[in-house]
Amino acid sequence: MSNKVMESLHKHLYRFMTVDLVLGIFIISPLLVTLPIYFNLILLPPIFMVVSFKNKRKNGDILGMILLLILSLIFLLVGLQDLSREETMSIIQGILLLLLSASTIRRIRTIRNTVYKNWYNDIKENTGLFEKQLVVDEVLATCPSCSTLLAVIPSKLSEDDKCPNCGENLVN
Ligand SMILES: [Zn+2]
Repeated sequence: MSNKVMESLHKHLYRFMTVDLVLGIFIISPLLVTLPIYFNLILLPPIFMVVSFKNKRKNGDILGMILLLILSLIFLLVGLQDLSREETMSIIQGILLLLLSASTIRRIRTIRNTVYKNWYNDIKENTGLFEKQLVVDEVLATCPSCSTLLAVIPSKLSEDDKCPNCGENLVN
């Protein structure tokens, strides 16, 4: 049961990472084209990081977090720069980039989650321990908005229940 949740969370995380990276490359592309062509080699390490993370290689989770951290900084800095311009389009883009930066940081917190970390590193006992701590009827699930791991009782979920991490509705 929880394995399935973890698999889909993992899938969500590396897809998010891939889209994030593509956006990041797109954003720094005006800078990249002004540099000599061999500078494009700096794109190789990030791709390696995503692949390590996806395949659950040793330390891939740390590489994934480093990549997300770098991307969130790029989004933050470019977003702030956009906000300082006085054109509506730039300001809108700036706001979007700041939101993207914040949701990238949230994914780092998800990767740091003990249950996820143990699953990633295949530490079975601890995940089992966590499952034993669940109250009867509680199951592990992820928030539809921010993918934070939550212990919920499906039969008691109502439309008023909010995610403790992002404040969004848990039931759509
Ligand atoms: Zn949430």
